[in-house]
Amino acid sequence: MAWTYEAPLRHMRFVLGQVLDAPAAWAACPAHAELDLDTACAVLEQGARFAAGRLQPLNASGDLGGCRLDEGGQVRTPEGFGRAYREFVEAGWPALAAEPRWGGQGLPLVLDACLREMLDACNHAWNMYPDLLHGAVETLAAHGSEELRQRYLPRLVSGEWLAAMALTEPQAGSDLGLLRTRAEPQADGSLRVRGSKIFISGGDHDLSDNIVHLVLCRLPDAAPGTRGLSLALVPKLLPDGSRNAMHCDSLEHKMGLRASATCAMRYEGATGWLIGEPGRGLAAMFVMMNSARLHVALQGLGHAEMAAQNALRHACERRQLRVPGPRANADAEADPIARHPAMRHALLALQAQVEAGRVMAARAALALDLAAHHPDPAVRAARQAEAALLTPLLKAGLTRLGFEGASAALQVFGGYGYVREYGIEQSVRDARIAMIYEGTNEIQAIDLVQRKLLGDGGAALRALLREFRAEAQECSGQPRLLAFARALQESCEQAEAALDALLARDDPRAVLALAQDAMDGLWWLLCAWAFAASARAALREPAEDPLWAEALLARMRYGVDWLLPRAALHWQRIRSQDLVLPEVQAAR
Ligand SMILES: Cc1cc2nc3c(=O)[nH]c(=O)nc-3n(C[C@H](O)[C@H](O)[C@H](O)COP(=O)(O)OP(=O)(O)OC[C@H]3O[C@@H](n4cnc5c(N)ncnc54)[C@H](O)[C@@H]3O)c2cc1C
Repeated sequence: MAWTYEAPLRHMRFVLGQVLDAPAAWAACPAHAELDLDTACAVLEQGARFAAGRLQPLNASGDLGGCRLDEGGQVRTPEGFGRAYREFVEAGWPALAAEPRWGGQGLPLVLDACLREMLDACNHAWNMYPDLLHGAVETLAAHGSEELRQRYLPRLVSGEWLAAMALTEPQAGSDLGLLRTRAEPQADGSLRVRGSKIFISGGDHDLSDNIVHLVLCRLPDAAPGTRGLSLALVPKLLPDGSRNAMHCDSLEHKMGLRASATCAMRYEGATGWLIGEPGRGLAAMFVMMNSARLHVALQGLGHAEMAAQNALRHACERRQLRVPGPRANADAEADPIARHPAMRHALLALQAQVEAGRVMAARAALALDLAAHHPDPAVRAARQAEAALLTPLLKAGLTRLGFEGASAALQVFGGYGYVREYGIEQSVRDARIAMIYEGTNEIQAIDLVQRKLLGDGGAALRALLREFRAEAQECSGQPRLLAFARALQESCEQAEAALDALLARDDPRAVLALAQDAMDGLWWLLCAWAFAASARAALREPAEDPLWAEALLARMRYGVDWLLPRAALHWQRIRSQDLVLPEVQAAR
């Protein structure tokens, strides 16, 4: 059975139009006031055609062929990747959400997020190359000198040149304070960058002539730790067209994502230029990393969607054993496995979380749009705080859904899932990395509790809870939504009690021991809201497509009844005063 993709355009339109009322947000922002839902969906339809038609057919072959380093030290991407990238650039996709000032189309990030989900679903490895462009553009636009911006932004925005993010070194992974790459200022204002980086995605390749590296490094006499880090722009090609002194020494051989070039890079006195203030490199880099974290969340969502729809197709065709009770087809020897309760659980749990996840991701992207473009500074600040809170939750929650969802889908395929030709085993391998890079999911949990929950005394979460309670209130007026209202109200109460319990703890180690529980509990809170908001929206317009709306409602109700109870364990642990986390002993 073929591994295929049908873009979830119907659901995307529903999320933008009915659940989030994105057109109202666009109307409030002068930058997007011209946009309407039909135009937005027409853009997504074209994106879906490119993803399914051009990228998906290259996914399995890219995995088989992988990347290679040729004798001249140039990285070669798999067959077909270059042509697909040229078409992507010619169609203007890299510029979709970039500022018109630099040649961008200025469309909202929420459309870009939907596009990225589709590209990732069809070919995560291919999308690794353009995925970093947006963050690099934002970092340069926010912190680069005027000269650097004029020189690099138009060609990055158009996609003519690509970007790489060079942080990791052998001894410095999660702890960037340990990194050693050095940069020496020159009389002409440039830097000479020396050092080795590992695991650099798209550090070298043949999709674009130039690759603009944003390299985290140390200036002479820099303070130790992260306070001493600076950010340098180091291009593969210098402004006069000559090669810079930087080389890809080797490519990693990886579990998955084999068509994405993961490079060990050597900078041998490479010429670069400072971005932002000396010693403020991490702050500048965080612009890129935050945008990249949302993109990584969308990788997880793309994998989960792809896995869910292919598992469903398989489960409807594959017949094994009989389901007890009345039969749909009395003559058939066996029923489709989609009718067996265990498989129904697997499929519904995945579908409900994918649909809730899409609502959450779109909400976060819309918050970023409002934070950038709303005329009222108070709205901008509130939406910025909301996006900051949602970023670690979505990065960790959706990447876990991507991997665990793909693994659950593999189980639906049975033994066929374990063999190559069915496609799902590649998804499981490819999806796994998203839980590790862009700050591991454990680092996201620390960011969540330390910065996003405790850092502002719980203000951002309480603001979100106010909006969620308003949704529960709306649902409580409708008999078919009472269960949603109750579940959301209860989730809000549990989350608030957990927040108070965390704020009351004076031992930071105790807070860290509960970071994963906070992450998991809040994931289910977000699901409770997304289930309720989706169900209410589905009931509002049943006349348009009643069967579709009823089926969606049933999946959201499944989420309330069968998934949300999982949160109780996490809330209970956070409130408990008796839990002790022992040290791990080196010898057992
Ligand atoms: C395919 C791939 C692509 C990549 N692309 C890039 C790229 O483009 N640019 C780039 O700079 N890097 C890139 N990376 C590197 C990636 O970001 C790092 O692997 C990641 O940050 C983790 O660092 P580490 O591997 O050194 O693990 P470590 O930091 O050694 O962590 C190991 C484990 O310990 C946990 N841990 C560490 N510290 C803590 C703590 N304080 N609390 C709780 N748990 C902790 C981690 O969560 C993890 O589970 C890539 C890696 C891969 C594999």
